[in-house]
Amino acid sequence: MPRFDPFAGRTVRVAENLEPSFVHDEQVALARRKLAEFVARRGKRPNFLIFLMDDVGWGDFGCYGGGVAVGAPTPGFDRLAAQGLRLTSCYSEPTCSPSRATMLTGRVPHRHGLHRPPMYGEPGGLSGEVTLAQLLSSAGYVTQAVGKWHVGENAASQPQNVGFDDFYGFLSVSDMYTEWRDPHYFPEVVYSEARTEWIKNMPFNRCFVHAKKGGEAVNVEEVTIPVLSLLDDKWCAYSSDFIRARAGRKEPWLLYHCTRGAHFDNYPHEKFLASSPAKHPYKDTLIELDDIISRLTAVLRETGQAEDTLIFISSDNGPHMETWPDAAFTPFRCSKGSTWEGGVRVPGILVWPGMIEAGQASDGIMNFSDILPTLAALAGDGLQLPTDRYIDGVDQSSFLLAPGGDSNRKYHYYWLMQHFSALRCGEYKMMLRSTSDDEAGAWAPGGFTGVLQEHAYAKLYNLYLDPKESHNYMTRKLAYMEAFQLGIRSHLATFKKYPPKKVMGLAAADPRQT
Ligand code: CA
Repeated sequence: MPRFDPFAGRTVRVAENLEPSFVHDEQVALARRKLAEFVARRGKRPNFLIFLMDDVGWGDFGCYGGGVAVGAPTPGFDRLAAQGLRLTSCYSEPTCSPSRATMLTGRVPHRHGLHRPPMYGEPGGLSGEVTLAQLLSSAGYVTQAVGKWHVGENAASQPQNVGFDDFYGFLSVSDMYTEWRDPHYFPEVVYSEARTEWIKNMPFNRCFVHAKKGGEAVNVEEVTIPVLSLLDDKWCAYSSDFIRARAGRKEPWLLYHCTRGAHFDNYPHEKFLASSPAKHPYKDTLIELDDIISRLTAVLRETGQAEDTLIFISSDNGPHMETWPDAAFTPFRCSKGSTWEGGVRVPGILVWPGMIEAGQASDGIMNFSDILPTLAALAGDGLQLPTDRYIDGVDQSSFLLAPGGDSNRKYHYYWLMQHFSALRCGEYKMMLRSTSDDEAGAWAPGGFTGVLQEHAYAKLYNLYLDPKESHNYMTRKLAYMEAFQLGIRSHLATFKKYPPKKVMGLAAADPRQT
C-alpha cells in the first residue's frame, strides 16, 4: 500500500474561516468508531493533560536522541513516548507567548497578535480571543491552568478571565522574576538600592498568584531565587491535587500544566542539584522535569484516570542560545527566536492508553494551532469552532487515533514576528525570509541575534537530506516552485477577509494611553 503523498494529496476546506485539511476517509471512520466506543465504555468524554515545558529542545530527551548522550537521562519521557505516539515534526512558534497563544486560540501569531512575548508588565495579551478553555468549558469541562502563563499580565488576559476555572502560577516568564536579583547577571542592580527600587516599581507583579474564574489574581508568594527553585515542585503538587480531586467525577477536565523549567536562569530544586551526569543547572532541571511528568502520570494511574486522559507533552520553542550553556539541545539549525528548524521544531509526545497505539513515531506535520480543533473534536461531536474569525488549526484526531495514521495538515506556515517566513510541505521547506545566524563577535549568538534577511530568490531545503538547512536546493528542484507559491498565496489571501492583529510592540494600541 503506497503511503499518502502530501504534495499529490488534495485538501478540503469545509468553511471559509477554516484551514483546508486532508480527509483520509478510512482513518476518519476508524477514529470516529474508536471515540464512540470510548464514550460508551467510559461514560464521558476524555480528559486532557497538556504538559508544556519552556525552552526545552527537540533533542533533549533520550527518545529524541539526547538523554544520556547529552548528560541528562530522561527515562520518564522515554517511557511515555514508548507508550504512545512520538512526533518528529511537531511545530511551535519561534518564542514563548506566540506559541502559547497559538495553542490556546488555534490561530497563527499574525492573527492573535502576540508576535513576541510581553515583558516586564508590557500591555498586550489574549483578551478578545476565543480560547481552548472557553470552548471546553462550554462543553462541560472543568478547566485548570497551572504554572507559567505569559500570554498577558493584564486582567482581561489572565487565565481566570479567558476560560479557566482556576489558575495557580505566575503570569509572566521565569527570568523576569530573578535575573535582576542575581549578582552574577545584574551586579549593577543588586548592588544599587536605587536601581533595585527602579526595577521593583516596574508595572509587573513579582509574585506568583492564585485566581478563580472571574476573580482577582491573589498573590501567593514573591518569586525570589530560593522560591523559584521550588516552583515546579509546588506546581506539580497543585496539579496532582487537581487530578486526585477529579477522580470519580462525571465532568471531564482540561489541565494545562506549564512548567517553569527549563527557561533560563535555571536554579534546580535542591533535591535535583547536581543530579545529572552533566552537573549543570539546565540538565539538572531536565531531570526534575522528567520526575514531574512521572509524578503526574502516576497520579493518573493511581486514581484510575490514565485511560480517560489524552496527554500532550511538548515545549514552547527551541533552545535559547543567547544564554548558553543554560540552554537546550537541538540537532537542527539555529535556535529560539528564528524560523530555522532549531527555533520551532519541538518534541511532541501523545499518550492515551487504549486509544493511541503504543510505540509509534510519525513525521507527519502537526503544529500548536492544531491542538484547539483536535481537542474540540474529541470533546464533543457538535462543539462549534468560532465562525467569526479564521482558525488556522486542523482537526488531527484521526491522525492520532488511527494506528499509523497520516497527518491531516498539508502545510506548516512559519511566521517570524509579522513577516511570513517559510512554508513546509512533506520533506521540503521553502524559505522567503529568515534571521541571519552567522553573526561574528556575538557573546553567545542565537535566534535573536541576527538581522531579518529577505532572500532574493527563495531558498528550498530538503529536511530529510539536509536537516540542518545548509544546502539550498532551489535551482535543482524548480518543479516544486509553483506548488509552494500556491500554498503561500492561498495562506496570505486569508488575511484579506480576516485581517491581521498586532497587540505587541510600538505600533500596537497601548491601553494605558487611552
Ligand atoms: Ca519559551
